[in-house]
Amino acid sequence: MLRSGDLVKVMPGYHRWGENSRTSCDCFFCFHKSKEVGIVTTTWVDEDDALSAIIEFDVGEWVFRKHEFKHLDVVSSL
Ligand SMILES: [Zn+2]
Repeated sequence: MLRSGDLVKVMPGYHRWGENSRTSCDCFFCFHKSKEVGIVTTTWVDEDDALSAIIEFDVGEWVFRKHEFKHLDVVSSL
């Protein structure tokens, strides 16, 4: 479960890479060449009654929905 203040890392499964190359993935993190490490700033229950989180990354904020949480590794928790 994600909580505000958690330090998270985006795991490789989030990306849509082909043949082990980042050039084929154009997600927010690849596009901005992010370090893919961020801090959870806000969590809330969304319109589907599922937890969502706003995470502040080195290249800006990004929203993760509950079904995407499996692609986040919690590096450290407050
Ligand atoms: Zn990507």
